[in-house]
Amino acid sequence: MLIVPEREIADLMTRQAAFDAVERVFAAMARSDAYNFPVIREAIGHEDALYGFKGGFDRTGGALGLKAGGYWPNNLERHGIINHQSTVFLFDPDTGRVRAVVGGNLLTALRTAAASSVSIRHLAREDAKVIGMVGAGHQAAFQLRAALEQRRFEKVIGWNLHPEMLPNIGKVAAEAGLPFEAVDLDGMRDADVIVTITSSFEAILGADQVSPGCHIACMGTDTKGKQELAPDLLARASVFTDEVAQSVSIGEAQHAIVAGLITEADITQLGAVINGSHRGRRSDDEITLFDGTGVGLQDLAVAASVVALAVENGVAIEVDF
Ligand code: NAD
Repeated sequence: MLIVPEREIADLMTRQAAFDAVERVFAAMARSDAYNFPVIREAIGHEDALYGFKGGFDRTGGALGLKAGGYWPNNLERHGIINHQSTVFLFDPDTGRVRAVVGGNLLTALRTAAASSVSIRHLAREDAKVIGMVGAGHQAAFQLRAALEQRRFEKVIGWNLHPEMLPNIGKVAAEAGLPFEAVDLDGMRDADVIVTITSSFEAILGADQVSPGCHIACMGTDTKGKQELAPDLLARASVFTDEVAQSVSIGEAQHAIVAGLITEADITQLGAVINGSHRGRRSDDEITLFDGTGVGLQDLAVAASVVALAVENGVAIEVDF
């Protein structure tokens, strides 16, 4: 069995490798070559932690396994470690033997950023110039870095409930040599692409705060009850997702579904666009929306990719198990 410790991931994994792995597995999901297992997520009644498993099997990529982990809100204060903690376990699909254990913390941020980045590649207008960020926490910086690689953006605008966090994304814009401007939510009308990545439980962005032709990657809503967008925005947009079953239950679409504004049939897997079986954006005026719920197969795909890189670089630890 191979172990790839968390400390090695930053030197091994690139944004490009994460993008390729996620794009490939989204395509495999839409061809039914890969599927996700039902998600388990439990409040364990200890340390206020949320703990769970996301797993799946990619027949073509040969990745079988799960990510175990969750959210421990007191970690940073009490233990000096980040609140999100996860580990990926990969198994040999031919025998069921464990193949690798991989640190999942940085990989989670990279695979989540890769998902919205894949959606921008396939759905945003080619001439997109202004990117708007709603959210400025840990994931937001990863999201922005990956998104900026997809179009020739000229400006970053941002809104956050806690404005003191905006420098987190201002710094990323500066690294890329782009101007950054803090705006109110109405200012998001200037954005050609919007990424939402907050832990909100109420709609933040309304349908009239988004301009025709915009692509929105809605990434924060990954649990029942969370919400970032007004349901009428989903009714106005063409909705794409990683996994329809998750989109309607734990993703942003849950609210528009409950309100009866859209049905499951209105939601398209992004993989279908990657595969060319759905045309994606139909016009420059269409609002496209990616509901990124976060699937286990994304975790397995980036973990498998990092294991290959670790072996290549001689840093995978082999144990007799
Ligand atoms: P974080 O704690 O570092 O940042 C939270 C962000 O949400 C900050 O910008 C904060 O100001 C904002 N926020 C908090 N409460 C809010 C409210 N009531 N209304 C509006 N904004 C509010 O968290 P993070 O690690 O950056 O994660 C952000 C979100 O992304 C979380 O909800 C997390 O569960 C989700 N996430 C999704 C995926 C996925 O695959 N879709 C993967 C990882 C994380």
